[in-house]
Amino acid sequence: MNTADSHNHLHFRDYRGDREGVLDRACAAGVARMLLVGIDGEDSREAVEVAGTRTGLYASIGIHPQNAGVFSPRDVFSLEGLAARGKVVAVGETGFDLYRTPQSEALQKELFEAHISLARKLSLPLVIHDRDAHAQTLEVLDRCDAWQLGGVFHCYSGDVRMASRILEKGFYLSVPGVVTYKKAEVLREVVRLCPAPSLLAETDAPFLSPAPYRGKRNEPAYMIRTVEEMARIKGVSPEAMGEQVLENFDRLFLSKKRENEGKMEAC
Ligand SMILES: [Zn+2]
Ligand SMILES: [Zn+2]
Repeated sequence: MNTADSHNHLHFRDYRGDREGVLDRACAAGVARMLLVGIDGEDSREAVEVAGTRTGLYASIGIHPQNAGVFSPRDVFSLEGLAARGKVVAVGETGFDLYRTPQSEALQKELFEAHISLARKLSLPLVIHDRDAHAQTLEVLDRCDAWQLGGVFHCYSGDVRMASRILEKGFYLSVPGVVTYKKAEVLREVVRLCPAPSLLAETDAPFLSPAPYRGKRNEPAYMIRTVEEMARIKGVSPEAMGEQVLENFDRLFLSKKRENEGKMEAC
C-alpha cells in the first residue's frame, strides 16, 4: 500500500527513544508522506526540525486551542519565521476544544483568528481542530472568510450534515483510527457518503490507535488498519483507497510546493 498520514505528532517526546524505528516501520508499511503538527511555538519548531530529517515528512505550525491563555495571538504571528525554513505546508492545529477547556472559549477564538491571518499571509491551508465546538468553528470560518484558504478538519467528529457543508466549501475531512471502533457508526456513515477525493486519513499519533492497537501508543504504520476500514466502507481495494488518500494529501498540502520545486518527495 501507498498512503499518507495527514496528522501526527511524531516529534513528541513519546518517540524520543525510537523515532527512527517508527519512521522506518511507517515507510515499510507504505506511509509515504506525513504531516507533523505543532501545538505550541517550541513544539512547532520541533515539528519542523524532525520534518527536516527525512524526505516525505512535512510540518504544520500552530498553537493548539487548549493552549489558549498560555499563548497569545502575538505568539501565533511569531511562528511566521519557521515557514521560511521549508517543509512547512500548513497552519494549525487551530480551532476550538471545548471538551477540556470550555472556560477559555473567547481566548481560543482570538487565537484561531490569528491563525487564519497567518495562513492568509503565508498562503497555506488550515489544519482545524474542532472538539465539541462545531457551531463555533463554522462561525469563525464563515465570518473570517477563511474557506478560500483550503484546509482539513482533522479527526473529523461531526455528522453527515456538517460534512456536506464543509465539503461544499472545498475543505477535506480527515478520518482517524476511531473509524475502526465499534461505536463509530456516524463516522462510518460520513466516510460512506463523502466523495473519496475529499477524504484524508490520519493517526493523530501518539493518540487514538485503531483497533486492534487501541490503548497502545499509536504510530503511522498502524494507519493501514484505518485505510483498510475506509476501503471496506467504500467498497474499493485497500490499495486504491490508500492511493486516493495519498493523492488527496498531495493536492491539499503539496500542490503549491510542487509548482515551486518541480518534484515530489516520498520516504
Ligand atoms: Zn487535534
Ligand atoms: Zn493533533
